[in-house]
Amino acid sequence: MRACWCGNENLAPFNADYVECKVCGTLVSLKSLTDEQLVVKDDETDFYGKQYWLDHQVQGLGIPAIQSRARIDLAERNLYWLNTLLKYRLPPAQIMELGCAHGSFVALMRQAGYSATGLELSPWVVEFGRKTFDVPILLGPLEAQEMPLESLDVIVLMDVLEHLSDPLETLKHSLQRLKPDGLLIVQTPQFKDGMCFDSLVEAKDRFVEMLIPDEHIYLFGERSVKQLFSRLGAGHVQFEPALFAHYDMFFVVSRQPIQTIDRTLGDLALQSSANGRIALALLDVSRREQERALELAKSEADRTARAKQIDVLNGMLAQVQASHTAQLEALTQVIRESEADRAARATQVETLTHMLNESEADRAARATQIETLTHMLNESEADRAARAVQIDTLTAMFTQADARRIANAQEIEALHSQLRLLLSRRAMRLMTKISEWPEVSRLHEKLGSSRG
Ligand SMILES: [Zn+2]
Repeated sequence: MRACWCGNENLAPFNADYVECKVCGTLVSLKSLTDEQLVVKDDETDFYGKQYWLDHQVQGLGIPAIQSRARIDLAERNLYWLNTLLKYRLPPAQIMELGCAHGSFVALMRQAGYSATGLELSPWVVEFGRKTFDVPILLGPLEAQEMPLESLDVIVLMDVLEHLSDPLETLKHSLQRLKPDGLLIVQTPQFKDGMCFDSLVEAKDRFVEMLIPDEHIYLFGERSVKQLFSRLGAGHVQFEPALFAHYDMFFVVSRQPIQTIDRTLGDLALQSSANGRIALALLDVSRREQERALELAKSEADRTARAKQIDVLNGMLAQVQASHTAQLEALTQVIRESEADRAARATQVETLTHMLNESEADRAARATQIETLTHMLNESEADRAARAVQIDTLTAMFTQADARRIANAQEIEALHSQLRLLLSRRAMRLMTKISEWPEVSRLHEKLGSSRG
């Protein structure tokens, strides 16, 4: 089992293919090739020989063939890297790219005005790069190169550090080739302290894609690269945003404090040559694309947030709708009941109307009757008045007649009195005459004797 680059042999389990050095924070492959296997002696059969570029990368790693990569990388990562390179060192500068593959970045750096050279392990890929981009590419390893010490301004290691079987040794050689203020620019996968394999898998973290145990021998983190370079006397490490931030880190290393250069100076440096202007135009497009990508990411985050908000609002709406439906049902029930009540009342009203109509007809009939009776009464009254007048007349006539009768009676009475007087007087006279009669005087004497 391989020890950690830092010397620690007491490594903790990580997964079936890797162990973890808790001392420095590096993942160490359990299945890496031996140092011997990593060297390319036979380009046809060795691991990093011709087949690595033609078959293994496509079939094993699922990345585009080197011919496609020679085109794709230029417009994508090479421009991104150049942008960062210009922030730390302006052209012309002596630069070597270790593990330059097809050589496109070497070509772009040369276009920008740098004196750049590549280095590769496979004679086939060295030849491919030379032919494809017409750039100088050395056949590695670096340790074998006849190169003056402290001659380089920058060494670039893109996706190389993780492949090194003895990073301390290779980087020591690299640093020796650098001028005292020289820089290493490194892109490598980023293992983060505390990462747990099962959690990574569960979270679908793309760092899992970097767990390629036969190739990626050491997977560093920020803590472990600082330790690594500190041990090499290059303690100045400045991290930059990585292009593939979901699994990579990107940083600049130096033995001296690192200075950054204003972008306008970089742009001016590029404008000092015809080729540089072309590189600047490409950079301008790339920067614009980066800005657009940032805007898109922001917009996408905003969209996601709004989509979440919409979900929440939809949920609320559904609740409100459900509540409304319930309310509506309750109201419908109330309306139904009210409608039934209304119908019942309508029937009642109809009945009452009918009764009212009948009553009205009755009232009209009675009114007619009353009218008739009133009329009769009036007639009767007129009749009665006429009779009263008649009675008055008759009464007056009667009174007159009565008065006349009384007067007549009185007259009669008077006449009667006169008559009686006359009669009595006549009777007296008669009596006297009679008494004078002899027979009458005898009779009176007889009568007086009988009474006594
Ligand atoms: Zn370690």
